[in-house]
This record gives sequence, C-alpha cells and structure tokens, in this order.
Amino acid sequence: TRAIDWARVRNDFPLLTREVNGKPLIYLDSANTGQKPASVIEATDDFYRRHNANVSRAVHTLGSEATEAYEGARKKLAAFLGVHGDDLVLCSGTTFAINLVAYSWALPRLNAGDAILITRMEHHANIVPWQLVAQRTGATIKVAELLADGSLDLDALHALMTPEVKLLAIAHVSNVLGTVNPVAAICREARKRGIVSVVDGSQAAPHMALDIPAIGCDFYAITGHKMCGPTGTGALWARREHLQAMPPFLGGGEMIKEVRFDGTVFNDAPHKFEAGTPNIAGFVGLGAAVDYLSTLGMDHVATRESELLAHATEELRKVDGLRIFGEASDKAAVISFQVEGAHAHDLATLLDLEGVAVRSGQHCAHPLLQWFGVAATCRASLAFYNTHDEIDAFVAALLKVRRLLL
Ligand code: PMP
Repeated sequence: TRAIDWARVRNDFPLLTREVNGKPLIYLDSANTGQKPASVIEATDDFYRRHNANVSRAVHTLGSEATEAYEGARKKLAAFLGVHGDDLVLCSGTTFAINLVAYSWALPRLNAGDAILITRMEHHANIVPWQLVAQRTGATIKVAELLADGSLDLDALHALMTPEVKLLAIAHVSNVLGTVNPVAAICREARKRGIVSVVDGSQAAPHMALDIPAIGCDFYAITGHKMCGPTGTGALWARREHLQAMPPFLGGGEMIKEVRFDGTVFNDAPHKFEAGTPNIAGFVGLGAAVDYLSTLGMDHVATRESELLAHATEELRKVDGLRIFGEASDKAAVISFQVEGAHAHDLATLLDLEGVAVRSGQHCAHPLLQWFGVAATCRASLAFYNTHDEIDAFVAALLKVRRLLL
C-alpha cells in the first residue's frame, strides 16, 4: 500500500496549528465534530466569492453553476457511500435524516401493537424520534442490551426481532464506546423477518470505507461535519421503493413539480424531501471533504486510526484508577474513560488549561451511561490527523491534572 506522510496530512488542517491557553492545541473531540482541511474551507469560500446563487431556480449562469455544484456534491457523496445520487436525500445531518424516516416512513405506517427495536448504545438522535413516533402511534419501543465489553448482545437482539417489530434503528458505530456493530449481519436478520432497518452511520462514515448496499439496510444516515465537511450538512440514503412511497416531510419550494390550490404534484425523490433553499455552500464543502477523504483513502484512514487507538489505549491503561468504557474487539478510535475520584467535567476543564480538548458529560447517550451506572465520562476521540506525540502529551497532561485533583 501507498505510504502516507501523516505529518503532511496534518498540515492540511489550519486550525490544528493554533494554541489554546498558551499550549499547542491537542484536539481529541473529533467524534463531536471533525476539523476541516483547507480544501474544504476554500471550496466554501470560493462558492460564495465566485458562484453564489440559488439552485434549480434561475436560468442565468450563476444559477446553473450553483445547481451543478450542489448536484455535483450529491454525486460525489453518493459515490463515496457506494450508492446512486437519486437515492440520497441531502439534509442538515443525521438528526434530520432520522427524523425524516420517523415522520415520513414510520408515522404513517406504525400502529398500536407494533414495536420499534433500538439498542442501549444509541445516541439521543436515534432514540427520541422513535419515542415521538411511539407516542403518536401507540407503538412500543424495545431495547437490545449490551455485553460487559460494550458490544451488542447479538443473541438477545435477534431474540427481540419478534413479529410485532416493524423497524430496527441501530448505530453503526457508538459515539461513546466506539463499538463497531456488525450491521450487515444484523440487517440481514432483520430483513429475513420483514423488519425495516435504519442505520445511524454518523460515527462510521468518517472512519471506514462504506458500501451501503453491502450492509443491506433500508435507510442509512450520515452527518457531514464529522467527516471533514461543514456543519449543517448530511444525508439520508434510502431504498428507492421507500423514497417513492414516503410522503414529503416538509413542504415548500423545490420539492414540487406543480402547485395549484386544488392539489400539488410533488417532485421526484430525492428532491421531494428537500424543501426550500438548501445549504448549498455547505454541500460544496462536503463535496471537497469527500474528495479529500477519497484521496487519502478510507482504508488508510482506518488503519491510521486503529494504530492511534491502540497506542492511546495502551498508554491510558497505565494510568492508575482509570477505567475505560467500551472494549469491544471491533472498535473505532473513541475512548470514554473515568478517573477514580475525579469528576469528568473537572478533568476536562483542567485538561483544557493544558490545551487538550476532550468532551465530558453524557455524550447524548443518557440511557447508555445509566446502564454503566455513571453520571459522566470523559471522551477522547481521535482522527487520522492526530499524532502519537499528541497522545503522549495528552496522557502526560492527564497525569498532571490527576495529581491536582486527587
Ligand atoms: N448519532 C450519533 C452516533 C452521533 O454521534 C451524532 C453526533 N454526535 C448524531 C447521531 C447526531 O448527528 P448530528 O448532530 O450531526 O445530526
């Protein structure tokens, strides 16, 4: 394989050169949002400087340039995910994508007596929309539990796939534990039983090569800001038959063919689900992000991140009283931890004084932390642009901070 000069790759990210509290920034919060390479920032800037116009409305030159740029980004993202652009709804992120499935697919279909199956490790974005659907339809929610290492109890999950279950909603990768779920095998089991599957790919798309058709799900949601793209960008992939059958979620311009007071003809999918002016510059940036990641190669990214994860895990295990949450064998570069006797927020606050950015709290996964019986954890999440030296400096800072607190 081609050797990548990761030090040069890091130089593509302008923000990573800054200091925080007089120390070089060590950014370990990429699961929250990723940093952006210069090419993404420049693509967005260039759009506003040279091409800015609305999409699909104007016949003038800028209008067609904007439309081409927006539709070009859809094509790039589709190729990156192994799908067809016509089956990719562009939206503001995973939260929107999952709500679109909830409101347009689930709400009209589910009834009292039906069930939605989720797992203990879901992000609130893959819990609350289903609770809203359950409240309005009378459906119930079933939860698949975990094993002690933070992996899914697959036998229990399959046992929960009973006839009343109409929908399965599951994370590809946990944002707290890093657990990579075997979604292809799980979706196959669901499909055999006629259960429609929704995969939350927020934490998978930034870290591994994806082939959505090979996963065999019905819906797959991603968020652009975690994969080097701008905030407010994301997508929902869906099987074409679902997109054709689903009613629109939001109404407005762009999503129609003809509007009359006695009835409106909707546009074809995916435009039917993209009412109003989209985040055009954001998607231009996301297109550049996809180009950037494709040039690096997602297999290289995955290998690099597993090396960083192995190093960080090894070093953190040496810290007295440190507990890591989530030690599944297939794991992305996310490490949630606690240090005995130190509150997670205090740790994160003091680490920030050392220039280290980690997230502390419940990571939008209250039921998961309840299951572990803890109020909060710190989370260090790595990306390919982090370095072994940064991990060493982070662990040294953690030891220093621990001495201050204990
Ligand atoms: N699901 C998971 C697993 C996530 O990590 C996140 C982002 N923290 C989301 C959903 C929500 O993504 P967004 O806020 O971009 O819609």
